[in-house]
Amino acid sequence: MAIRIQCGGCKKFINAPEKLAGTSRPCPGCGAAVSIPSLPVAATEAEVLTIEATSKKWKLIQLIGGAGIVVATISLAFDLRTAVGDPTVNFPLGWFTMGLLILSIPVYVIGRVGAWWYHG
Ligand SMILES: [Zn+2]
Repeated sequence: MAIRIQCGGCKKFINAPEKLAGTSRPCPGCGAAVSIPSLPVAATEAEVLTIEATSKKWKLIQLIGGAGIVVATISLAFDLRTAVGDPTVNFPLGWFTMGLLILSIPVYVIGRVGAWWYHG
């Protein structure tokens, strides 16, 4: 795809090939130096990098939440095993399990929602 530019000297429109982007060439009409603008590739690349970094951030949040849920599930299994058959235990889940579940489920959900919100 050619870049369409206007000569500052003769006001003629010139089609410059993309490979000349960011350089200066004499106008074919009047010979005045015409600078060919660079393509907006640099901005696009920066944008992609930002998206990748953001994506990694949300993935990390999901990972932390997910790990918390896994640990809570293991802890839950231990709690239930010790609580079953014990009539003195009226609530089978320990504080560690409860706290971990309360913390890690929202963290995981936030990670999921964040990834969806920013990246569709
Ligand atoms: Zn010109």
